[in-house]
Amino acid sequence: MAESGSVLSTPVQYLKGVGPRRAEAFASVGIQTVEDLLGYTPRAYIERSAHRSLRGIARRLQMPDIFSSDRESVSVLRQEVSILATVEQIRLRQFRNNRVLLEAIIADADQMKGALLFWNAHQYYTRVLVEGAQYIVTGVPALDRYGRITFTHPQLERIEEEEQAMLEHGILPVYPLTEAMRSRGITAALIRRLVRTALDQVKGNIPDLLPPALLERHRLLSKGDALEHLHFPPDHHAIERALERMKFEEIFLFELLLALQRQDQLRGAAPRLPSPSPRWEQLRQSLPFALTSAQEFVIAEIQQDLARSEPMHRLLQGDVGAGKTLVALAAMLTAVDAGYQALLAAPTEVLAEQHYRTICRLCAPLDVRVAKLVGSQSARQRETMATDIATGHAQIVVGTHALFAESSARPSHTYHRVGLVVIDEQHRFGVLQRAALRDLAMASHPERLAPHLLVMSATPIPRTLTMTLYGDLDVSLLDQMPPGRQPVTTKVLSTDQLPAAYQVIRSQIRAGHQAFIVYPLVEESESMQLKAATTEFESIANEHFPDVRVGLLHGQMSWSTKEEIMQRFAAGDFDILVATTVIEVGIDVPNATVMLINHAERFGLAQLHQLRGRVGRGTAPATCLLITEPFLAHRARMPAQEDEPPAVTRLRTMAETTDGFLIAEVDMRLRGPGDMLGTRQSGMPDFRYLDLVHDTTTIATARAEAFSLINRDPHLRASEHSLLRRYVLDRKDSLTHYAIA
Ligand code: ADP
Ligand code: MG
Repeated sequence: MAESGSVLSTPVQYLKGVGPRRAEAFASVGIQTVEDLLGYTPRAYIERSAHRSLRGIARRLQMPDIFSSDRESVSVLRQEVSILATVEQIRLRQFRNNRVLLEAIIADADQMKGALLFWNAHQYYTRVLVEGAQYIVTGVPALDRYGRITFTHPQLERIEEEEQAMLEHGILPVYPLTEAMRSRGITAALIRRLVRTALDQVKGNIPDLLPPALLERHRLLSKGDALEHLHFPPDHHAIERALERMKFEEIFLFELLLALQRQDQLRGAAPRLPSPSPRWEQLRQSLPFALTSAQEFVIAEIQQDLARSEPMHRLLQGDVGAGKTLVALAAMLTAVDAGYQALLAAPTEVLAEQHYRTICRLCAPLDVRVAKLVGSQSARQRETMATDIATGHAQIVVGTHALFAESSARPSHTYHRVGLVVIDEQHRFGVLQRAALRDLAMASHPERLAPHLLVMSATPIPRTLTMTLYGDLDVSLLDQMPPGRQPVTTKVLSTDQLPAAYQVIRSQIRAGHQAFIVYPLVEESESMQLKAATTEFESIANEHFPDVRVGLLHGQMSWSTKEEIMQRFAAGDFDILVATTVIEVGIDVPNATVMLINHAERFGLAQLHQLRGRVGRGTAPATCLLITEPFLAHRARMPAQEDEPPAVTRLRTMAETTDGFLIAEVDMRLRGPGDMLGTRQSGMPDFRYLDLVHDTTTIATARAEAFSLINRDPHLRASEHSLLRRYVLDRKDSLTHYAIA
């Protein structure tokens, strides 16, 4: 072990064939030591019966490219592929404008022909390319007008003599090579040689972070075997098993840190906040509606947590409009009645303002003092607030980032016995910001009690991700809408059906209802935006609806003007509101029953879902009309097909469901989880092997194992956990960066 350990930590610079210049290029992709080198995963594998044959590529390319206006669908066709081919013949062609084309005719294992094209680089390539030699060709395939597959300026890797034999029996790894690596003569062949030598030297004695019992239970390969098979697989099954092992390790280590984090959070003592809370009971009695059973259930769940002396760490998930605010208020009043302060943090001032008003209104008869802390307050206002908050006069504090902002002049305001911290739209807060708020809350008790924490999320996070992301939180789900909400009927219509869509709006207005007409932001410049908005508005107001009252809301308006327009729309001053911005100001207009969205294909799923959430808030049935190009509308109404443009999938999904979680899952599949959550913000590491969308079983298994391991051996003292202990200690400082709350 010691011997293999020293091999693993050898700098690559000392390997035969590397040297200082190549070591630099290796370092630029994160390879410093032999261990790093072994972790450099092939990006593809090549074998004699290459499954990516020219014929297969041709089939994909010949699909009609009618969606070429859709950027995303083109990128599918623009995928890079690697194939194994023999160069059969090299030809030079001279064109009039002095351009020289080098054309290398290639053939794959099936004797299917193609061509490599190099413009004005023949001097170089006539030297590099050898007729009769085999190459791994990596590039973006295209069909030329003779129906022949061509690669223009592809990357080439010659298969060397000694490797031909390896290819005869097995599979060759192809490594990602950067320009820096290429320019210093690092080839895939060199990497293959270095990896082979390294693997032979450590002879499978590669330290394994995963305990043997765990490997056995889940029939996972040892680290050594996994690396051997990842680089030199005997067959495809071996690659699968090696990848499975690497994925498991990746997510297991992540979940282990979460489990430790959770253990740590549970350690501090929290104030007991017992129920029933008289103020909450009074408020509940006075509400003009009954709570949904989901709300009842979740409030009970939260109050149980609050009554305990272990700090609560709970995520409340619920779609827009599910009624999270009341749940939060129930928790806050429970804290207030127990004699503790409650903080509510919102990501934007608009949202904080809204919460502040709602809470003030609901709490008016309850004798609760509510304070507000936002960035736009004057220094004087904040001073007064700070005093109220520090003395405990304020019992509920609503605010933005100002709640934990350090002023440069003096340390940020102090709180008074904080029992509960609520964070709304928690994904829009950084991990460290949440930690900072927790620290401030702890400092507000002489005995440093830990606050109970409730984080809320309206962005439905796919169920499959919740567990991974919030491994250290308990989850409450508000999966029921308040009664009377009508599911919104959604139709995808083509632009030539606009007259029929306007007819729907007319009949709704006749019935006394109101409508939104939304345009996406298209124009780059502000003046163009304004012009486009005005043009659309005038055509709606003058041509299509000359006899109804039409209002306009656009991005260039000041915040207060937008607010005023929304208020007037809510008050019924307009029948139609033409909006060019996403209608973010979340004012309820229960009387609005139609949402017409133009160029619906340009909106993302989350946006469409949010927009649609603006209607169907009253008791009358509501309609959402998604207007798009005829061919997209046509396909969105047909059954799903593989390889269809993402825009079609988005439109069909909207028409088929109103379930925010389902929509989020589709969204994640289309966009990838990192993109959707903003990896940096969510505190998720970039997994190299794991696919958060598809590897749900692996994630669940690894999570269960990690949490049970920490349960059994909280300090990782067992000898079979000594490597894990080392791993964790090395990352102690980064723990808060990985953990979620
Ligand atoms: P969100 O979960 O999006 O934060 P809100 O808390 O803002 O939702 O609630 C949306 C609207 O639903 C508010 O006007 C609120 O008063 C109302 N509401 C909440 N709970 C109920 C209920 N049980 N019955 C009827 N309306 C409710
Ligand atoms: Mg809300």
